[in-house]
Amino acid sequence: MIQSKGYAAQDAATDLAPWNFERREVGAHDVQIEITYCGVCHSDLHQIKNEWFPGIFPMVPGHEIVGRIIKVGDHVKNFKVGELAGVGCMVDSCQHCENCTQGLEQYCLEGSTQTYNNLDRSGVPTYGGYSNNIVVREEFALHISDKLDLAATAPLLCAGITTYSPLRFWKVGKGHKLAVLGLGGLGHMGVKFGVAFGAEVTVLSTSPSKEKAAKELGAHHFVVTSDPEQLKAVKGSFDFILDTVSANHDMNMYLSLLKTNGIHICVGVPTEPITIHAFSLLGGRKSVGGSGIGGIPETQEMLDFCAEHGIVSDIELIDIKDITASYARMVKGDVRYRFVIDMATL
Ligand code: NAP
Ligand code: ZN
Repeated sequence: MIQSKGYAAQDAATDLAPWNFERREVGAHDVQIEITYCGVCHSDLHQIKNEWFPGIFPMVPGHEIVGRIIKVGDHVKNFKVGELAGVGCMVDSCQHCENCTQGLEQYCLEGSTQTYNNLDRSGVPTYGGYSNNIVVREEFALHISDKLDLAATAPLLCAGITTYSPLRFWKVGKGHKLAVLGLGGLGHMGVKFGVAFGAEVTVLSTSPSKEKAAKELGAHHFVVTSDPEQLKAVKGSFDFILDTVSANHDMNMYLSLLKTNGIHICVGVPTEPITIHAFSLLGGRKSVGGSGIGGIPETQEMLDFCAEHGIVSDIELIDIKDITASYARMVKGDVRYRFVIDMATL
């Protein structure tokens, strides 16, 4: 076994603290990555606090992982020691079901294995990227360009692909009015991709203080959702809403902002089930969809697109000792726009 160290929550009531644990030896098809940076996703907080479902503890969160390959198994074909690599939200899937064979491993019919807070296919708990290393089968490692700032690349592994994938699936681009709801880690990547794909992008935000920064990210318009006048002005005006909100919110109000045939895309995962009145949908033939991260081929496509277009996340680099304080700031919406842990501080 590989002796490893990281930060773990011992239970849902306790803050993260240093913890030593073991990872499996590098198998024939595995790579081992020394982790340099790991992004802090709101999903990490939802999970250590049992906000969605009871978690598996001790829990080492983190699924926006970048670093360097330090060991490869005998049968590894696509990675070499010394190369940059990344790992996102998944570390395994069946690889043969209808979804896996189409590159939609996140929707594996046998269930994809999550990077942490999950059991692997042999029943062993998985541990995430708030740690010094990770061992993963090579099919779930991504190639990372050395052209981009490495720390700012980490959030692409979750916030990036989670916003890229639905915008591609629904072919959002030129001629579309896209609203990005919530300007946090996911939201700010949604703005960058929406702009890159040619859409007219409006940020819908509860934070008036984010207007200037939103425009700097490329957003064309900014609407403060607590201001009834500003909301009234955008009623019935969007083709798509990309909903990245982590907290419970009134979907019926936001659905009224869509045009006829408009689509509300859920990527944020609030704790409570959403309540939608049928009238909110049938008046204007509106749809609600959802999207989970993205498959491995599309994640690589997104990383390559970002390398080509110089797109990275806007980050605040943190010391791992400040993780609990950083969560508190994230909950208040006080992060521009993603915390990334410098793993040298572990
Ligand atoms: P985040 O950085 O905390 O951003 C969430 C943003 O939502 C906040 O910055 C805030 O933006 C807005 N917000 C917060 N409370 C709100 C409220 N009560 N009403 C309206 N807006 C509110 O979180 P994140 O890391 O981007 O993650 C967002 C959500 O996506 C989380 O639930 C996470 O678990 C989920 N997620 C889903 C997937 C997937 O595969 N679908 C992948 C990753 C994450 P403003 O200040 O602009 O209002
Ligand atoms: Zn995430």
